[in-house]
Amino acid sequence: MATERTFSIIKPDATRRNLTGRVNAMIEAAGLRIVAQKRLHMTRAMAEEFYGVHRERGFFSDLVTFMISGPVVVQVLQGEGAVLKHRDIMGATDPKKAAAGTIRAELAESIEANSVHGSDSAENAATEIAFFFAGIELVG
Ligand code: AMP
Repeated sequence: MATERTFSIIKPDATRRNLTGRVNAMIEAAGLRIVAQKRLHMTRAMAEEFYGVHRERGFFSDLVTFMISGPVVVQVLQGEGAVLKHRDIMGATDPKKAAAGTIRAELAESIEANSVHGSDSAENAATEIAFFFAGIELVG
């Protein structure tokens, strides 16, 4: 499998509980390298644009409000099969359904406050990375 990059967010429920280091340790233990990272507080307009594909979903408004309720840490992760590997270590969207040992099973509060986001494809990863980072900020 080829080396690739994926995009990750440590969400406000996790930054609020001071869990950035715990999440990063799980990412690194899985063999992924954090090649870019920054902490920021999204505006409503940014969150609405980032989650634009979910605009018609019933949970959209609550999701945007949650994502701007505190700071997030946005990251670029690199490694063999990074997209799938990251989704494996995050676990299912709903922490009640996430496998034991995954980030969401261990740390998430609810299906909305589920601690982490990860790209679902290499194509979406490239779009999401470009939304938050300039090329010179990615340092493998
Ligand atoms: P995704 O684009 O797959 O990351 O999904 C967006 C986010 O929306 C998820 O990570 C959850 O935080 C949230 N979400 C997804 N499904 C639901 C739901 N049924 N109820 C509330 N929040 C949800």
